[in-house]
Amino acid sequence: MTDDHDELKPEDMVPERVERFAMTVGSVWREARVSCPHADILLAFQQDSLDAGQMAYVRFHVEDAACPYCQAVLEDLGRERAPDADAPLENFRERLRSSTIHVLREKRGRDSK
Ligand SMILES: [Zn+2]
Repeated sequence: MTDDHDELKPEDMVPERVERFAMTVGSVWREARVSCPHADILLAFQQDSLDAGQMAYVRFHVEDAACPYCQAVLEDLGRERAPDADAPLENFRERLRSSTIHVLREKRGRDSK
């Protein structure tokens, strides 16, 4: 069993590298997007109320595959604010980008503890 995906280390989380990482994630996301869990599943994941197999799947999708769409959804759920489905695409893309960076910064904070 080989592990050929790049492990993103906390020390790699400088802004320029996050930009590059986000682009890499984008291509992974396009391939993985067909299996994006529904927002209801993401909410259940956040509330830790899925069964073990589902938790593992969603965790892989959100954390290992680092799907920016689902991370943005989770962030919205975390704010207890419904995702705005009618937001213009530019707003969505900007929010997606800042959400991804925000998630990475939070991850960095957790990892360095
Ligand atoms: Zn996804």
